[in-house]
Amino acid sequence: MSPYQYASVPGDGEKITGDTGRPVVPDRPIVPFIEGDGIGPDIWAATRHVVDAAVAKSFDGARGIAWMEVYAGEKANEVAGEWLPGETLAALTEFKVAIKGPLTTPVGGGIRSLNVTLRQVLDLYSCIRPVSWIPGVPSPVKEPHKVDMVVFRENTEDVYAGIEWASGTPEADRVRDFLMGDMGASIREASGIGIKPISPFGTKRHVAAAIRYALARGRDSVTLMHKGNIMKFTEGSFRDWGYEVAAERFPDSTVPEARLWEGEEADGRVVIKDRIADSMFQQVLLRPAEYSVVATPNLNGDYLSDACAAQVGGLGMAPGANVGDSVALFEATHGTAPKYAGLNRVNPGSLILSAAMMLEHLGWDEAARAIDRGLEGAVAAGRVTYDLERQMEGATRVSTLAFAETIVEHM
Ligand code: NAP
Repeated sequence: MSPYQYASVPGDGEKITGDTGRPVVPDRPIVPFIEGDGIGPDIWAATRHVVDAAVAKSFDGARGIAWMEVYAGEKANEVAGEWLPGETLAALTEFKVAIKGPLTTPVGGGIRSLNVTLRQVLDLYSCIRPVSWIPGVPSPVKEPHKVDMVVFRENTEDVYAGIEWASGTPEADRVRDFLMGDMGASIREASGIGIKPISPFGTKRHVAAAIRYALARGRDSVTLMHKGNIMKFTEGSFRDWGYEVAAERFPDSTVPEARLWEGEEADGRVVIKDRIADSMFQQVLLRPAEYSVVATPNLNGDYLSDACAAQVGGLGMAPGANVGDSVALFEATHGTAPKYAGLNRVNPGSLILSAAMMLEHLGWDEAARAIDRGLEGAVAAGRVTYDLERQMEGATRVSTLAFAETIVEHM
């Protein structure tokens, strides 16, 4: 009997096995999708059309995806009476690779955020955000083509861990008393208090994932971005543990930048560098070409990934994934834009590019490249959605689905 009450497992597909470092992918993998709320159904329909066309074109029908709808958010509430049914988590765990549209955070529903819950329950510890420019997409910088970075943001620690107490509560007072009494700290009365934990375990598995990614994709450096000059035992340790894991697990395929300053050659090895967070924001504007993979703790990565995305045209075209040891969940990086829901108007680029990342993860690079070509062609033809059209001279505004169709035509 199927363990799924609401979802149905496609009969014509097979499971992906292995782990995220080395997925074993059949020719017709079962891939669960969460449509998402608001504009989710609009951008999902466009994305599915583009992905199916790219795969069909690239492999002449020998490969295909067996899509399996699973429920989260508003649709789950309608179908199953809860925001995140247990069977959805079970399906993501069982089938290992999935894709989702944006989800509304229910206000007052007792859940912090469905996105956060998914990341925590499935232990998706790295948020991966590639940032590169598609020629023709409006950009606020002079040389957007020099931006080709992949931000690896740690997902489970730092301020993201949510360990905090509100001003004036007995809990905040107790923590303050402890810190002032036993620990010798000085804290103003009625302070709100947050704790920022960063561990060697959390840092090392995350930085190791960034290095494996760099090695697998021929990228020449991994930069550890931190504010260790001020927060020595959290951010500073993040840097130290990052260098340590590179030396421990990748001694022959990585080299610390300091050794290059002493005259050693990189010789094809991945260079491990570190930069202080504030200077990193200058660096990505002034010398973007010197950065490839950037590994960060949670908060730095939150800021940096949006700042980098802005350089190449904003969140409408920024893909992302949350990845752990056994599950990879690809997703649009923007929200549900509820005012545009069902209007067939918004840009599906973010979800489409996330799907291209997913195809790369499956090892189906030909199909991912077909999507890149299609997107570049659609932008070059000036047939784009409203958000791009309003910034591009002489462009024609098209609907979400017409944009998807134009992408397919240019594959
Ligand atoms: P948002 O949904 O990203 O929308 C903000 C604005 O960004 C839109 O009004 C629109 O700008 C533009 N935009 C977003 N997606 C676009 C697209 N695909 N194409 C073109 N323009 C796009 O942010 P929000 O209004 O702050 O959040 C709404 C809901 O989404 C909230 O419930 C939030 O919790 C949720 N959210 C979910 C995720 C997720 O699931 N990963 C992420 C972020 C937010 P214009 O009005 O200028 O056209």
